[in-house]
Amino acid sequence: NSEAKSEQQSQTFIRSPIVVVLGHVDAGKTTLLDKIRGTAVAKREPGTMTQHIGASFLPWKALESICGDLLNRIKAEIIIPGFLVIDTPGHEAFSNLRKRGGSIADIAILVVDVQRGLEQQTFEAIDILRERKVPFVVAVNKIDRIPGWKSFPDKPFIESFQKQEPSVQFRLEEFLSYIIQQFNSLGFRADRYDRVRDFTKVLALVPLSALTGEGVPDLMLVLAGLAQRYLKKRLETKISSGRGVLLELKEEVGLGTTATLILYDGVIKRGDLVVTGGLNGPIVTRVRSLLMPKPLDEMRSPEDKFQEVKEVVAAAGVKLVAEGLEEAIAGAPLYVVTNESEIEKFSKLVEEEIKGVKFEKDVV
Ligand code: GDP
Repeated sequence: NSEAKSEQQSQTFIRSPIVVVLGHVDAGKTTLLDKIRGTAVAKREPGTMTQHIGASFLPWKALESICGDLLNRIKAEIIIPGFLVIDTPGHEAFSNLRKRGGSIADIAILVVDVQRGLEQQTFEAIDILRERKVPFVVAVNKIDRIPGWKSFPDKPFIESFQKQEPSVQFRLEEFLSYIIQQFNSLGFRADRYDRVRDFTKVLALVPLSALTGEGVPDLMLVLAGLAQRYLKKRLETKISSGRGVLLELKEEVGLGTTATLILYDGVIKRGDLVVTGGLNGPIVTRVRSLLMPKPLDEMRSPEDKFQEVKEVVAAAGVKLVAEGLEEAIAGAPLYVVTNESEIEKFSKLVEEEIKGVKFEKDVV
């Protein structure tokens, strides 16, 4: 019944925040991504799809169990479904997630090596995060390398910290205060996360080890808390026409040029009319298919890696197959068009936004 359907379609829900990981080379971005993905997969509930295209979904249910006692301490109810973490760390992927006046990334993890502090690419990352107005949390990584540190794998930082010798605790505090000074000189107030009262005014530093996993629960909890408190409006979405960004374009055998689409709002369905951006102007095309990764145990050969889905709801990463994508460019916005009369409006919008993308690429 169409009335019930339209009522359902106007319902709003809180979507998962889109998370990016940035930082200097060798700070531990890849290791951290692997760690949080691994944790979520190990604790996953049957039937939850954790793998997307270009991103991984970390259901809050899976993260809850790693947070343990920490959750009782904050007494906050977590209402976000989870996090959609972009798989590629670093500046370049982040640049392609742009949208007018900002980024489709809702929140960022800035990884800093505890003993090295802020380095050249850290400063660059801070500049782009500021420019795009993306809030971030600082993962102060590699605490296991502090001389004398005793590791407590996968435990919360605050538990592990209490079990260290006073001299070791002092060493960590020294490293942290150096990092805090560095942030101060950039005009930020910063402190260890458990000493922060107002997360809108003070940058939270979460000491952790991407290698042993200690401190990762604290990081996930800080991210969840921040997202819920300060991004709620932004995370409210309707079951309505989808909006996304092309993160990457890729040739696939038998499929031609396909796009990794990061959907940040609404829904996209097979057969939908969409407008996106290309080298020679807007591209108007229909979704031929939407592909998600096939579960490992259902793969029959290395080529047999995708499964078709009928629709995808934000936030999600999905492979888009459609005609005309050979011309498309990474970083282009994508709009689902429900009414053909809107094609012109969205084409104009795309055109304007593409100019921005090209301009940026020329400058870099
Ligand atoms: P990326 O360039 O920022 O992606 O850094 P990687 O994740 O590739 O890490 C660079 C090196 O640091 C690798 O040899 C990692 O094994 C190591 N590493 C990363 N995180 C940690 C950590 O928490 N502790 C220790 N001891 N080594 C780490």
